[in-house]
Amino acid sequence: MDFLDKYKYHKDDPREFGIEPKDFKKDSSELDNNHLSNLLTNSIRVSKEILPKVGSAIETVFERIKIENNFNFFVTADNNQANASCSLMSSASRPDIVLTSRLIELLSLEELQFVIGHEVAHYVYQHALYPNHNNVDDRNLKLNILNLSRAAEISADRIGFLACNSLEDSLRANFKLASGLSDKHFNFKPSTYLDQLRDLEDLGKSSTELWSTHPSFLIRMQSLIWFSMTKEYHEFFDNKKKGTYSLSEVDEKLDKKIKKVTGDELEVSNKNIYEKALIWGSLDIYLSDKKFSKIEQDEFASRFGEKANKAISLLKMSSARDMLDKKIDISFNEASKLLKTEKDKLVEELKTVGKETGGDKMKKLKILGKLLNILGIKKPVSF
Ligand SMILES: [Zn+2]
Repeated sequence: MDFLDKYKYHKDDPREFGIEPKDFKKDSSELDNNHLSNLLTNSIRVSKEILPKVGSAIETVFERIKIENNFNFFVTADNNQANASCSLMSSASRPDIVLTSRLIELLSLEELQFVIGHEVAHYVYQHALYPNHNNVDDRNLKLNILNLSRAAEISADRIGFLACNSLEDSLRANFKLASGLSDKHFNFKPSTYLDQLRDLEDLGKSSTELWSTHPSFLIRMQSLIWFSMTKEYHEFFDNKKKGTYSLSEVDEKLDKKIKKVTGDELEVSNKNIYEKALIWGSLDIYLSDKKFSKIEQDEFASRFGEKANKAISLLKMSSARDMLDKKIDISFNEASKLLKTEKDKLVEELKTVGKETGGDKMKKLKILGKLLNILGIKKPVSF
């Protein structure tokens, strides 16, 4: 299934949260059985004999995306929600995909293929291993997790698209799920939805989007339109067409589009946390020899500008060391919840500070080790 990895949206990267999906092997058979017995009790298991159309839509999906069907599919009665879900997705268990009756009534079989492909992707990409924003109090971490969750939906949509191999059906499925309307009520005009997306962009930021687990259907449609223009998509089906963009170009276009809609709140918040840790950590390194000469102060000031003065003035207080320890504790605990890329960058910057300041190297390394420990980075440090 690894060949599907390259279609992932680049922001859909659990390693940023210290999760390596490939390492995950867990025996969840006990949990499985409960879950399965619940489904067998209350839902219909899809087979070609009972539900031939749905059964053949499922078959087509697995032929198209070239993976083995080791899933259980169920249909459950729900006339209100057009919904699909994929559950218990450890690599050791057999996954279940549950489709609601309303979903099947609402969608054509091609549109259903999109939704099935999307759910299969959640399993293939092991999205169930991602952290749950509900279990987290820290505001910044919660927002980063939601950002990851939305990115996962973009990846899943791409596999949904490969599964139905039709841009129009992928977009129609998205439109129907967003509006709840069936074919007889709407004219299908993607350009009009993109106008709505532009209106949303013009508002500058949407806190609804920022706090959502799923991206707006408008973003999802735009993302699919761009995906349909990539080399990688055309290669997947050996199309004669070349494609206008590479997938990485499309990822960047999408980053920009998403940022326009969600605003820069998360980016600013990540940056603040990063900078606080950097300045307090650096100050600690400067003070490794318990001295802070005028030359060092000037160096520190030229490195951090305006903020340096505030930090230096803290040192004039009688309880300076306690205050600094407290600042370090708070700022590094916050920074420990940043994305891995950010934490790695922070460590590199602190190492540079360590390298460029005077004083005893071992003492500086000891301080760096302490800081890395709060960040949750276990590797030995040197410079
Ligand atoms: Zn999904």
